[in-house]
Amino acid sequence: MKWRPVDCHAHSTYSDGALAIPQVVERAAALGVQPSLADHISRDVARAISSIDEVRAYLDELERYDVLRGGEFCWHDALWRELPDDLVARFTHRIGSLHAVRLPNDTLVHAFARRLPIDLTPEDYMRAHLASLEQLAREMPVDILAHPTLVTLPYRSLGTDRLWTEEHEARMIEAMYQAGIAFEISNRYPPHERIVRRAVERGVRLSLGSDGHTRDQVANIAKPLAMARALGVADEDLYDPRRHGSKTQQTQQTPSGGR
Ligand SMILES: [Zn+2]
Ligand SMILES: [Zn+2]
Repeated sequence: MKWRPVDCHAHSTYSDGALAIPQVVERAAALGVQPSLADHISRDVARAISSIDEVRAYLDELERYDVLRGGEFCWHDALWRELPDDLVARFTHRIGSLHAVRLPNDTLVHAFARRLPIDLTPEDYMRAHLASLEQLAREMPVDILAHPTLVTLPYRSLGTDRLWTEEHEARMIEAMYQAGIAFEISNRYPPHERIVRRAVERGVRLSLGSDGHTRDQVANIAKPLAMARALGVADEDLYDPRRHGSKTQQTQQTPSGGR
């Protein structure tokens, strides 16, 4: 069968998306893309799957369709730590997100914060961002890091070179490499090419994600795919849970390990 790209990261009405699951599946088919859902599973997102019973109902529903079963978990929220292994094993893949980073004084800075702690500098924030990312990579059994270059809203206008020093990029990529976590090329929060090239050169797998919430966005991964190809990555090497496996299956085999 002809290779088709996977949109590993799309939202439905189970969290904050606009389309029902069958509409996501239909939209992906129309674009020649393998569909997968990755709804928010968190107690710290306004519209999200936020309990273990709701996770079970979501998976029951996904299993009715020919669709990959993903979830987007906030690292800073504890729900992912509480899922029983039998539920984890029903995901085809899982995505971790730094929707908040932890400062040394233990306060959280959210990605969508309007205001920041008054004495915080961008350099402090990026140090905390990298430390949080390294902790995520050590402890969170996910296959993909969502939108790796997403930073808190007030700092997004600062520019890539101020935020992403060579040291920051190298630390991020090394943590992902050591943990076996794929780097998402997000259509919603596109990474700068230099950091993606660094990921490729280190041997970190790439993953394509629309992070789509609407009909126009879901399964729209043409730009991420073009970027991966421009960096010389073979289509078959782009993350596909069916081809490359997932940590969710390892959880099934070693129920006591790694969580
Ligand atoms: Zn996200
Ligand atoms: Zn998302």
